[in-house]
Amino acid sequence: PHSYSGKVALVTGGASGIGRATVERMLEDGDAVVAADLNAENGERLLSELSGPSREGRLIFVRTNVAEEADIAAAVTRAVDTFGRLDKLVNNAGLGGAFGPITEIDVDDWDYTFHVLVRGVYLGVKHGARAMIARGEGGAIVNVGSVAGLYGGGGPVAYSSAKAAVINFTRSVSLELAAHRIRVDAVCPGFIRTPLALGGGAGPDLSALQPWPDRGEPRDLADVIAFLCSDGSRFMTGTDIAVDGGLTAA
Ligand code: NAD
Repeated sequence: PHSYSGKVALVTGGASGIGRATVERMLEDGDAVVAADLNAENGERLLSELSGPSREGRLIFVRTNVAEEADIAAAVTRAVDTFGRLDKLVNNAGLGGAFGPITEIDVDDWDYTFHVLVRGVYLGVKHGARAMIARGEGGAIVNVGSVAGLYGGGGPVAYSSAKAAVINFTRSVSLELAAHRIRVDAVCPGFIRTPLALGGGAGPDLSALQPWPDRGEPRDLADVIAFLCSDGSRFMTGTDIAVDGGLTAA
C-alpha cells in the first residue's frame, strides 16, 4: 500500500479540517502532496503526524497566504521543483470572514474575506493552470465552495457572497481550461465538523435542518474531492457538488 502513484497534488488550507483530511486521503492514494497553509504551527504538526516511512518523503508543507500572488506562485513552483509536475489542485483555504449587520461591516473586513475566499481561488487557478498547461497533460482543480454560496441563508453575508462567486468562477473558468484538458469543479460542504464550523466561523449550525442523521466529517469531503481529482470523474467539469447530508434538498 501507499506506493507512489506518480501524481502530484497541492492542497491549500491543508493544515486543518477538510484540507488536512484531503492531504491524508491523497497520501493514502499514493500521491505526492504539497500542503500550503497560513498556519505554520499546524503545518509542522501535519508533517510530524503524517510523514511516516511509508510516505517516502511524499509530503511537504509550504507556508502560504493564498491572498498573496507571490505566495501561491511559490507554492506551485515548490510542487513542480520537488516532485516534477502538478496534477491536482485543491483550493480549500478559508475562514469565516466579516461578521455583523451589513450596516456595520468594516470595508477592510469585507475585502479580506473576498481576498482569501475569491482572490485566493483565482490565484490558485491562475498559477496551477499555468503549470498544468506547461506540462501539457491536463489536470484537475477542485474549489471548495459552500452550501452558503448556493442559497442566501447559509452564512454571514460576506462569506455567502464570496462562496457564490467561487461557484460561478468555477463554471466560467472551466470553459476556458477544458481545451487544455484541465477540469475545474466545486464542492459545496454543508455543516462539517472542523475548527472553523465548530467555532461558528462558517455561519449558523444548520444541522437541525439536515435530513441525514450523521454529522458531516472532513473525510466526507476529502473522499469527494479525491474522486473529482481522479480519472473516475474524467467527463465532469464546471459542476458544483453539494456534500451536505441533504441540507440543500431540505
Ligand atoms: P479550518 O479552519 O479547519 O481550515 C481552514 C484552513 O485554511 C486553516 O488551516 C487556515 O489556517 C487556512 N487558511 C485561512 N486563511 C488562509 C490564507 N489566507 N492562506 C492560506 N491558508 C489559510 O476550516 P474548514 O472547515 O476545513 O474549511 C475549509 C474550507 O471549507 C473553507 O473554504 C471553508 O469555507 C469551507 N467550508 C467549510 C464548511 C464547514 O462546515 N466546515 C462548510 C462550508 C464550506
